[in-house]
Amino acid sequence: MPHSQTKRPIRTIAIIGGGSAGWMSAAAISKSFGADIQVQLVESEEIGLIGVGEATVPHLSAFNRLLGIDEAEFVRQTQGTFKLGIQFNDWGNIGDSYVHGFGTIGRDLGLMPFHQYWLKARATGQAKDISLYSLNTVAAPLGKFMVAPSDAPANSPLAEIAYAYHFDAVLYARYLRKLAEAQGVKRTEGKVIAVHQNSESGFVESVQLENGTTIAADLFIDCTGFRALLIEDTLHAGFEDWTHWLPCDRALAVPCEKIGAPTPYTRSTARQAGWQWRIPLQHRTGNGYVYSSQFINDADAADVLLKSIDGRPISDPKPIRFTTGKRRKLWDKNVIAIGLAGGFLEPLESTAIFLIQSGISRLMSLFPNMDFDPALQKTYNAQASFEYERIRDFIILHYHATERDDSDFWNYVRTMSVPDALKSYMDLFSANGQFFREGTEMFGLTSWVQVMLGQGIMPRNYHPAVDWVKNDDMLSLVHHVEKVVASNVALMPRHEDFIARHCAARPMQ
Ligand SMILES: Cc1cc2nc3c(=O)[nH]c(=O)nc-3n(C[C@H](O)[C@H](O)[C@H](O)COP(=O)(O)OP(=O)(O)OC[C@H]3O[C@@H](n4cnc5c(N)ncnc54)[C@H](O)[C@@H]3O)c2cc1C
Repeated sequence: MPHSQTKRPIRTIAIIGGGSAGWMSAAAISKSFGADIQVQLVESEEIGLIGVGEATVPHLSAFNRLLGIDEAEFVRQTQGTFKLGIQFNDWGNIGDSYVHGFGTIGRDLGLMPFHQYWLKARATGQAKDISLYSLNTVAAPLGKFMVAPSDAPANSPLAEIAYAYHFDAVLYARYLRKLAEAQGVKRTEGKVIAVHQNSESGFVESVQLENGTTIAADLFIDCTGFRALLIEDTLHAGFEDWTHWLPCDRALAVPCEKIGAPTPYTRSTARQAGWQWRIPLQHRTGNGYVYSSQFINDADAADVLLKSIDGRPISDPKPIRFTTGKRRKLWDKNVIAIGLAGGFLEPLESTAIFLIQSGISRLMSLFPNMDFDPALQKTYNAQASFEYERIRDFIILHYHATERDDSDFWNYVRTMSVPDALKSYMDLFSANGQFFREGTEMFGLTSWVQVMLGQGIMPRNYHPAVDWVKNDDMLSLVHHVEKVVASNVALMPRHEDFIARHCAARPMQ
């Protein structure tokens, strides 16, 4: 029996925009759906990409696996380096430093996670800084890196080294383009100047390019970056503005010449009216100042940035303006917004590329037919909102849990009211160090514990079950973990040596 018109499967997808969002979507969809769906991508060289977005989180390796990407080749082609976490300097107080590392902290025992035993041992002066109990946070400042060796014993910390990548965002889009085109994605160069909707349903039927070409499709993915050409300009999905919680609204980005070996971590240094990133690549170092225009002017921000980078700048600082928040609907009618078109959370925890990845996998799970059942859209939007909000709260935590009072900016963020969910997380952790991950929220226990402690929230107590373990057993666990982590890190090569051996890029022309 033939399908009814409403059950007709989607046959054509048009992706508008060719930044990381566009090409990640094109590569993943063409790989997963094969020849059943024809994928087209439209991009405009004249408009170009945002060109920042160089630090990632470990989830990206699952995406690369889906695409069958060879890691060494990927790192080589994107001038990539490896990332064990983020070093936060001057956040809780000027002079403070901690690493939010990927992976785990210590080893759990019985009912309790390791940090609960650490809290008790520390209260009696028998434990050192929490960073000494995790492979990533010990290895990162020492400049050590390796991927898990295949012969590492299962219970060794080396068996599960969690890491992400730093890469050149422009090379990344180029790399994915090659992959997607080889999988059959058709690319069209041109600027979209009009979007045509069905006069009754409002569904998008086609986009029109400047050269007169019309591109029609069943489903459109809006990857036009901050322009949000389809989801906002055409469908008016609406925007939730979170500037009152995350007041940074501008960035200046400037690459500089590389000085010394690349660190296996991103650095985030808190500044008078925001923070500065440092991302080491093989051929250069990426830098940027993310700041609030309410608290510092552009010229002063440029001055702060240029005075504090560690190599000669390769170009003038590139100004970027943004509003933190997200679309009220990321999926509306037959348009799904992925990437900056859907929303933006500042890059403090390198979450934007992750949000692209999870938007794509959510779309695949809830992939519609031509009937575009509203239940699918509703679930997509609810899950996306939840994901954005939980990440938003995690980022707010960095600003709010601080003792800094040396500028109007820090006085504002320290004393502002925060979302209720974040307040509950902070209250619970302050009480006895607990954290409960809600549903599918992105950041888990290790992340929240490290950032809460790093920002100076020390729990008043520990969980009572810690006392059910004999004191000597508890202390020997804590001391054993410290020793094992140190001895394993000693076996790791230096980050630059690992890269030289496995994935050194060719020098740029
Ligand atoms: C300051 C800053 C730092 C960041 N750092 C990080 C980070 O460290 N880690 C991270 O994960 N993310 C980071 N991000 C986010 C990251 O840059 C983006 O999420 C990512 O690059 C995806 O961008 P995009 O593809 O959505 O948009 P863009 O790169 O802006 O691409 C938009 C595309 O749409 C096309 N386009 C637009 N209008 C039209 C039109 N009319 N016709 C045809 N084509 C059109 C453009 O040509 C382009 O191809 C950062 C963002 C900012 C602002």
